[in-house]
Amino acid sequence: MELTSDLFIIGGGINGAGIAADAAGRGLSVVLCERNDLASATSSASSKLIHGGLRYLENYQFSLVRNALQEREILLHRAPHLVFPLEFILPYEKHLRPAWMMRIGLFLYDHLASHPLVRSSKKIDFHDDQRGLPLTSEFDFGFSYYDCATDDARLVIANALSAKDNGATILTHTEVVSANYENSQWKIQLKHADKITTCTAKVLVNAAGPWVEQVQKNVIHVSNPFSVKLVKGSHIIIPRLYSGDFAYILQNPDQRVVFAIPYQHDFTLIGTTDVPFTLDTDKIKITSEEETYLCDTINQYFKKSISRKDIIHSYAGVRCLQNENENNPAKLSRDFKFQLNAETPLLTIISGKLTTHRLLSEKAVDKLRQFFPQMKKAWTKDKPLPGGDICEKDFSIYLKKFKDKYSWLPEKLAVRYAKNYGTRAELFLQNATSLSDLGKKIGADLYQKEVAYLIQQEWALTAEDILWRRTKLGLTFSLNEVEELDQLCKIIASQPSSGDGHG
Ligand SMILES: Cc1cc2nc3c(=O)[nH]c(=O)nc-3n(C[C@H](O)[C@H](O)[C@H](O)COP(=O)(O)OP(=O)(O)OC[C@H]3O[C@@H](n4cnc5c(N)ncnc54)[C@H](O)[C@@H]3O)c2cc1C
Repeated sequence: MELTSDLFIIGGGINGAGIAADAAGRGLSVVLCERNDLASATSSASSKLIHGGLRYLENYQFSLVRNALQEREILLHRAPHLVFPLEFILPYEKHLRPAWMMRIGLFLYDHLASHPLVRSSKKIDFHDDQRGLPLTSEFDFGFSYYDCATDDARLVIANALSAKDNGATILTHTEVVSANYENSQWKIQLKHADKITTCTAKVLVNAAGPWVEQVQKNVIHVSNPFSVKLVKGSHIIIPRLYSGDFAYILQNPDQRVVFAIPYQHDFTLIGTTDVPFTLDTDKIKITSEEETYLCDTINQYFKKSISRKDIIHSYAGVRCLQNENENNPAKLSRDFKFQLNAETPLLTIISGKLTTHRLLSEKAVDKLRQFFPQMKKAWTKDKPLPGGDICEKDFSIYLKKFKDKYSWLPEKLAVRYAKNYGTRAELFLQNATSLSDLGKKIGADLYQKEVAYLIQQEWALTAEDILWRRTKLGLTFSLNEVEELDQLCKIIASQPSSGDGHG
């Protein structure tokens, strides 16, 4: 059957999923098409922060920072299970910036947007504070401020679920191979498992992230392609570097900042690098130089020294930024930009941040009103994302009730379910009264019921989808367990009730 829709979106990262959710909720018929798994590219390779971006103040990007701080607050309400305040420690270094400048920057950060859910900044004396303990003795004091941490890939899934709840069709492992505008509509060719199908749409959205230029040139054949700059950022994960639930923001003289962030209880996530990227976007990898750069940065600040041997996992992602006349990648604006072609209705999305995806999506869909005058008004600001409809509005109260209700769940597992799925955890827990009701344990704390839920409701197909995107359990799985999980995925996916659109 040929699919016909108002809106066809290329790219299942945070921007494509966010636009799909917004547009479907306004009554448009929507198809979202992703050639791999949802969030398989940049949107699972981020620093996993919902933040204003303190460092952008130095480039005078006040409106970007203010918008992002406002969105941080909105997201804390929309997805209280996925977005959590996190304290950042900024060690003071006299040779980089004077203390008064840091104070002014932090004052602005505290005051650019109201933030009742996130604490304000303060100075910290490292001599009598545990936050100073992991650092070398040359740091006497620093500053503390708050931003938020999130699970990037789960934020994408939550948006895709929201789109689906409003009637959107989500296609995964389906590549858009060509799109031509003929007879007042887009004719789009899709490739799934070597089969080509065709569908039509009134408006096309190119949200292909780092592939946006390639899609413009090779798929849509636009005559005036938007030129972009690609900037790679890489992260390493090492065994926990320090105890304490706070993160560090470390400044480098080259204007780049490196975060050290507590990650999945036992690990520390360190990144990022910001290097120009001109190679093949299908082969994005951290280099040994980047690994060394990140280790060296840590070693300048922390008592405990690390080397490349400590790295247990790494990943890299590429930002697609506006092509400005600026050679330092760290200085290129992260603000989003649209290009709208009204004759052949095509909206191209450039840049953006996880943090501002809701605003980007709202503004993108607003731009389409000329094609859909009956479209409903913007709606996402006050509406929770799927799983975020926590009556108590306070995640800690919700978590306590969740633990009481499922008192048979081990503490760590209860916390993981509540954080990953919010109220949607009920979908696979509702009839269970003991661990044995969750089926076979495959590895770490992954049980069969959760796997079935992820395949049937969240478009997961393989062990990789489950271990690195739907959950972050990949760090704790052995090779045999991965193999077993892949087998189980195949069995569940072949059962008639599973999934609703892998192509
Ligand atoms: C290293 C790094 C760290 C970051 N950290 C943060 C952070 O902490 N906080 C924050 O707010 N932002 C952060 N960002 C920015 C944020 O991650 C990105 O802005 C965002 O993920 C981009 O999403 P996207 O949807 O545009 O692109 P992507 O997530 O890359 O999605 C594009 C999708 O399009 C698909 N696609 C391409 N071609 C086709 C085709 N022909 N057919 C079908 N599908 C196709 C791709 O497979 C891909 O999945 C970071 C970025 C990087 C690189």
